[in-house]
Amino acid sequence: MDRHSNYYNELPTLYLIPTPIGNMEDITIRALSILKKVDILFAEDTRVSIKLLNYYNVQIPLKSYHEHNKATQTDVILSLLKEGKTVGLVSDAGMPLMSDPGFEIVQASIEAGFNVVSLPGPNAALTGLAMSGIKPHPFTFYGFLNPRSSKRQKELELLKTRTETLLFYEAPHRIKDTLYDLYKVFGDRKACIAREISKKFEEMIRGTLSELKDLEELPGEMVIIVSGYDSALEVTEEVAIVSRVEALIEEGLSKNEAFKKVASERGLAKSVIYKEYHENHLD
Ligand code: SAM
Repeated sequence: MDRHSNYYNELPTLYLIPTPIGNMEDITIRALSILKKVDILFAEDTRVSIKLLNYYNVQIPLKSYHEHNKATQTDVILSLLKEGKTVGLVSDAGMPLMSDPGFEIVQASIEAGFNVVSLPGPNAALTGLAMSGIKPHPFTFYGFLNPRSSKRQKELELLKTRTETLLFYEAPHRIKDTLYDLYKVFGDRKACIAREISKKFEEMIRGTLSELKDLEELPGEMVIIVSGYDSALEVTEEVAIVSRVEALIEEGLSKNEAFKKVASERGLAKSVIYKEYHENHLD
C-alpha cells in the first residue's frame, strides 16, 4: 500500500492538466495558473498545444510526449523530476490519459515517489453522458473500439450483456461502421451521439441504434453513449427479425425488399430471413 499526501511535502510534482475539447474558454483558472507555474510542459502534439498557450499568453518550454516517443520521454521526465523541476502534461484535448497518452509516465512517477496531481477539467465522455438522457451510472468508459470490424464485433460480444451504460469514442471515418456493428451485436437499444461538444455545431442525436446506424453525414468528433443490456427487453433473434421486416414493410418497402435489407443489415442470406419471417410472423 502507498498512502501519498499530494500537497504536504517538498517533492517535485507531475501535473496532469486538462485542456478544452472545443471551446477555448473551457479551461479552469487553476489549470491556467499551473500552466504558468510548471518548469516544462509535455504535450501530445506541440503544434496543437502552442495555440492554447498563445491564446492565454503562457510562455513555457514545450516538449512532446506521445505514443511513439513515450519510452524515451518517460526517462527524460523522470530526470527532470529528480532535478526538482515541476512538470506538466497535456494532451491535444480534454483529460490526459483518457484515450490519450500519459499512463506510463504516471505509473513511473508514482513508482519513483513523486507527486502526481491531476487537475479536474474537460472530458468529452462525461460531458456527453451528462446531456445524453441515458442513465448516467453505473457506466463503463470503453474509449475506442478496435478499428477492424471483425475484432470490434468480438469486443462488442463481450460487452453485450453488460447492464451499465457504455461510453465509446469514435473517429468520424469509422462512425458508420461502428454504429452498424453496435446494432448488429447489441440489437436495438436506446443510444445517443454527442457530436462536436462545446463547438459551434454541437449536436445531440438521441434515438435507438437502429435509427442511428442509418444516419448519413456525421462529421466532427463524437461520443457514442449506449444504454446497458436490459433482460426485460430481450427479444429472440427470430422475433427481432420479424419485427424489423414488418417495420420496413410499414415504411413502404415490398416484402422482398425488406428481406433483402434485413439480410444485408445482419450479414445473413436473404433465404434465412425469408424462412425466419414465414415461420415466426403472426398473420
Ligand atoms: N482525452 C480526451 C477526453 O478527455 O475526452 C479524449 C481524447 S480521444 C483521442 C479523442 C476522442 O474523444 C474523439 O475521437 C471523440 O470520440 C472524443 N471527443 C473529443 N472531443 C470531442 C468533442 N468536442 N465532442 C465530441 N467528442 C469528442
